[in-house]
Amino acid sequence: MLLRGGPGDGQVVAGAGETVVWRACLYERTGDVDVRRGEQVRVYEHRADCCERYGRGAEDRCE
Ligand SMILES: [Zn+2]
Repeated sequence: MLLRGGPGDGQVVAGAGETVVWRACLYERTGDVDVRRGEQVRVYEHRADCCERYGRGAEDRCE
């Protein structure tokens, strides 16, 4: 999957499911797909509320 937005923008990571945690950040699946190295990857978007709701902020360098 490809991460979009937030500190992990552009990162390609392994995993599955509705959400994925990258370092301190929560990403949520979108309906989008992108192509990396000839393979389709699902796009996960950084949740706008991730820092506040989960108490992650300056310490973890979340946006
Ligand atoms: Zn975040």
